[in-house]
Amino acid sequence: MTTIYNFSAGPAVLPQEVLRQAQEELVDWHGSGMSVMEMSHRGKEFTGIIEAAEKNLRELLAVPANYKVLFLQGGATAQFAMIPMNLLSCKKEADYVMTGEWSKKAIAEARKYCTVNVVASSEDKNCTYVPEQSTWKTSPDAAYLHYTPNETIHGIEFNWVPQTGNVPLVADMSSTILSRGINVSDYALIYAGAQKNIGPAGLTIVIVREDLLGQALPFTPGLFDYKVQAENGSMLNTPPTYGIYMAGLVFEHLKKLGGIAAMEKMNIEKSRLLYDCIAQSQFYKSPVEASCRSRMNVPFTLQKPELDDEFLKQAKARGLVQLKGHRSVGGMRASIYNAMPIAGVQALVNFMKEFEAKS
Ligand SMILES: *Cc1c(COP(=O)(O)O)cnc(C)c1O
Repeated sequence: MTTIYNFSAGPAVLPQEVLRQAQEELVDWHGSGMSVMEMSHRGKEFTGIIEAAEKNLRELLAVPANYKVLFLQGGATAQFAMIPMNLLSCKKEADYVMTGEWSKKAIAEARKYCTVNVVASSEDKNCTYVPEQSTWKTSPDAAYLHYTPNETIHGIEFNWVPQTGNVPLVADMSSTILSRGINVSDYALIYAGAQKNIGPAGLTIVIVREDLLGQALPFTPGLFDYKVQAENGSMLNTPPTYGIYMAGLVFEHLKKLGGIAAMEKMNIEKSRLLYDCIAQSQFYKSPVEASCRSRMNVPFTLQKPELDDEFLKQAKARGLVQLKGHRSVGGMRASIYNAMPIAGVQALVNFMKEFEAKS
C-alpha cells in the first residue's frame, strides 16, 4: 500500500500516533467501560481530560497565569463576531489589518458591530505580501487591533509581531498556532479553530487576558460571553468533548516530541525543502513575496496551468493528496502543518522534480 500524505488546508492531517491512541481508547477509555463520546462532561473522567488538556496547552505555549484558556465552539468564524461583542466596550471603532480572505471575513463580520478602520491592506497585490507597520494608519480610539498572522489561503505569514502600545492586539492564529514560538503576553487575545494544527473540527481555542473580560455588549448571548465561559470552565453548555479529548492527545504528543521549539525547527526545515524546490525550478512559482512566505501553507503555480489537472492526478497516484489550490489563488497549495512528516514533504519535492523534468 502507498503511504498517503494529506496536504489539506483544513480539516488537516493529524499525528498517526494520536489517531492510533484514540482508536485504542475509542470504546473503553482507561478502563471506564465508556467511550469519551459517551461520558458526562461534568463527570470526573471528563473533568480530568479537559483539565489535562488545558494544563498541557498552557505548558506548551507558556501561557501566563493572567490569561484564561477557553474551549469553545463555532469555529474561528464565531470569533469574528465574539471579538467585537466582547472587546468593544464603550468604544465605537476597531483596527483591522487586511492581508487575505480570512482577515476580509473578520472585517465583514466586525462591520456589523462597529466602525472598522482598515489600517493597511495588501489587496493591491492580490494579498501576496505583508504591509510594513510603518505604513499602517491606526486609530488612537480603536478598541483593539485585529490581524491574521498566517493567511491560510494566500500562504503569507507575519514573521514579526505588530506593536500596538496600549491597544489590545488580537490574533487569528487558526493556521499557525503551535507551529512556532510565540510570546503570549504580546497579545490580548489569541484564537484558533482546531482543525488546522490542533485536532478535529468543532473546537475553537481562545486565550484571553483576564482584564478584558466582563465588558461584553448587553445583547451578547451568554454562550458568546468570554467572562461567562471563563466562569463556567468552558462548560456553560455541553462542550465539544471529543474534540477537547483529541486536542489533549495532540498536546501530549507535542510535549513528547520536544514542544514548540522542536516543532518550529521541523517546520523551518520542511518549508525550506519545499521553497528551495520552487526556487530552483523554472517550472514552479511562488506567488508570495519572499519575506513573508508561510511555513504552514505553501501555494505554488505551474508554468503551464493547463497541466494542473495532470499534476494533481499523478500526485494522487503517488499518495500525495489534497494539493489543489484555493480557487481565489489557483494552482496548488501544500499545507504542511505540524503533523505532516518531513518524509511527506520529501515525497512531494521528489514528485515535483520528476513532473517538471517530464513537462
Ligand atoms: C480556517 C480558518 C478560519 C475559519 O475557521 P472555521 O473554524 O471554519 O470558522 C479562520 N481563520 C483562519 C486563518 C483560518 O485558517
